[in-house]
Amino acid sequence: MEEIPLWYWLLVFFAFGACVGSFYNVIVYRMPRGISLINPPSHCPLCKKHIPIRYNLPIVGWLWLRGKSACCHQPISVIYPIGEALCGLLGAIALFAAVAVVGGVPVSASFFTAPVTEPAVWASAFAMFWLLLGAYPVCAVDCKYKLIPDSISVGGIVAGLLISIIPGGVAPLQSLVGAVVAGGGLYLVGWCATKLLKKEAMGFGDVKLLAGYGALMGVTGAVETLIVAAILGIVVMVPYGKIAARRNAAGQDAAETSGQIPFGPFLAVAAPFMYLWGETLFKLYIKLVFGE
Ligand SMILES: [Zn+2]
Repeated sequence: MEEIPLWYWLLVFFAFGACVGSFYNVIVYRMPRGISLINPPSHCPLCKKHIPIRYNLPIVGWLWLRGKSACCHQPISVIYPIGEALCGLLGAIALFAAVAVVGGVPVSASFFTAPVTEPAVWASAFAMFWLLLGAYPVCAVDCKYKLIPDSISVGGIVAGLLISIIPGGVAPLQSLVGAVVAGGGLYLVGWCATKLLKKEAMGFGDVKLLAGYGALMGVTGAVETLIVAAILGIVVMVPYGKIAARRNAAGQDAAETSGQIPFGPFLAVAAPFMYLWGETLFKLYIKLVFGE
């Protein structure tokens, strides 16, 4: 494993990401239709015939069939392989960022041929993989259904604790404390805000999601994520709120625009950036405020 060059691992991470993307395609198709994710096994939605595994391979399957189903020769949307390719790209970016940013390896001619030897880089690569590939379902599901899937939030706590076993990254105790303090802290903030505003101020999904980020990034990373997400939320939602208010005044689709704003997407977007650059950003901020 010590001699395997980085380019090979980048391909592996791409393939792994594409498989996750393929699974997302299944979820996006089946969940709103109330079909189980496992049963029935992969079948053609038009003629109900079973799809053999070789045609189910992400990206490759679609290219192999030239975008038409093998059973009934109906066109298969190009959205599916594109989604898989994008998820594959996110997987490769996770490893690339871990080596270049966390590992501090300069991107030069030997960057792609050198092996990955630091265990800490692997820990970061897995954490980044989780953060980047989890961001999509959090954004999509929270915007549409106003909830965050437990598989991502609670799954993040489990993933964080597992990754912490790899030496060099966030240590197991840091991970555990991160989950408890980040989740517990946000729960307290939400509880106080709910008492003050006399209405539900923070969903429990956000609490579990931040607990997961605490487990993956430690307390500081989670707090930085929360701060940046809140700033992003204000920057995006203030103009949105004004538009909504104007629409409400005009009596247009009031029910749609006055709805609760999901916070999960802001957390999910901020997290990978804060994982990579949170410390740098924080130091820059201290320098700006306190000088030197
Ligand atoms: Zn068919």
